[in-house]
Amino acid sequence: EMFGQLTSGLEAAWSKLRGQEVLTKENIVEPMRDIRRALLEADVSLPVVRRFVQSVSDQAVGVGLIRGVRPDQQLVKIVHGELVKLMGGEVSELVFAKSGPTVILLAGLQGVGKTTVCAKLAFYLKKLGKSCMLVAGDVYRPAAIDQLVILGKQVDVPVYTAGTDVKPSEIAKQGLEKARKNNIDVVIVDTAGRLQIDKTMMDELKEVKQAINPTEVLLVVDAMTGQEAAALVTTFNLEVGITGAILTKLDGDSRGGAALSVKEVSGKPIKLVGRGERMEDLEPFYPERMAGRILGMGDVLSFVEKAQEVMRQEDAEELQKKIMSAKFDFNDFLKQTRAVARMGSMSRVIGMIPGMGKITPAQVREAEKSLKIMEAMIEAMTPEEREKPELLAESPVRRKRVAQDSGKTEQQVSQLVAQLFQMRVRMKNLMGVMDGGSIPALDN
Ligand code: GDP
Repeated sequence: EMFGQLTSGLEAAWSKLRGQEVLTKENIVEPMRDIRRALLEADVSLPVVRRFVQSVSDQAVGVGLIRGVRPDQQLVKIVHGELVKLMGGEVSELVFAKSGPTVILLAGLQGVGKTTVCAKLAFYLKKLGKSCMLVAGDVYRPAAIDQLVILGKQVDVPVYTAGTDVKPSEIAKQGLEKARKNNIDVVIVDTAGRLQIDKTMMDELKEVKQAINPTEVLLVVDAMTGQEAAALVTTFNLEVGITGAILTKLDGDSRGGAALSVKEVSGKPIKLVGRGERMEDLEPFYPERMAGRILGMGDVLSFVEKAQEVMRQEDAEELQKKIMSAKFDFNDFLKQTRAVARMGSMSRVIGMIPGMGKITPAQVREAEKSLKIMEAMIEAMTPEEREKPELLAESPVRRKRVAQDSGKTEQQVSQLVAQLFQMRVRMKNLMGVMDGGSIPALDN
């Protein structure tokens, strides 16, 4: 499992909150220590970890209680949000040139998977309907050129080569020229990698960049190198100026440090990730999905999200569902009445019920008054009557009792019962359900 160690490290944090009612300054101390440890063990750089932990604790202490959501689940949600932010938030798309070929310049140290990425990227872009060409600019290793040619064949993409005696910047220019002539959409230029950063490599890269004015300059980094990858992205960006990074070997037992640090440390986004040796193993980097994978708790996240949503909409959603399924009974009615009373205004709730539309303040006051009357009558019903409004529809005796106990008239009770059924039917019709059932005539 990708980032398995990080995932289980974070799990320790959640487990410490079991049995707690709310998140407090005191009870998050231990979990925050676990989170800190897990991130450091994943090889996330210390300043990044510090900021992360600070931000999570600030949010955790200030977070309000959400009905039905446990504190550990709330913390998972907060950490998820911070992870997404840390990784850049939105997916960072490849940029394409408005006219002429899009030029993608690839750089990277030896062995990170750069040559493989050239072919994978071409394969990926072909699936997007773009024609591609590879340019062999690694003139120091004849084997690298051969490898690129072989991979190009494999993905059925032309490879421009000019041997090892021509300057890389010249090869790149020639390749681009050829691509223009052939109306190629995307030119991917491979460059020489070194075992370590050195001035010659940087100078050469700058020269190539200047020669072809690339749309994208992407640094290929190996996820296994953790925060070192983030440092490399920073250096290349300062020296050469890059537009983003491609993170390879995420399928191995990398600990997550690179994925989590690159954006925060360098300011440059990870645009694509390699997750295997096959040509199809290259995909856009989705911070949201990555965070979800790290936490390994998709279900908890969507649950908390839903709970928050329901909170925000003051149970309107649930009410809607009840009405739609014609299970809306007097208990729901009462719950809503009280929720509305709590809110002090029912206009918002009514506005959320489809078909109700906007209502005026006078109508709101009127509605609040009649809600009070309804509440009294519903409180006078037996639990059974509340659950099965049919009982009241069928029995004048029951309605009389409710009227007496609530101090209202029998007519008012009958109206209320009829209203409930009308509401069911009207809502079902509104939702496009043809067979909405019928309004029972009240037996006398
Ligand atoms: P270069 O020196 O940067 O051009 O690296 P290569 O493209 O030759 O790749 C070096 C090795 O890493 C090769 O054995 C590739 O198959 C392997 N490799 C590249 N990308 C990935 C990846 O995403 N996952 C895995 N598991 N291996 C990869």
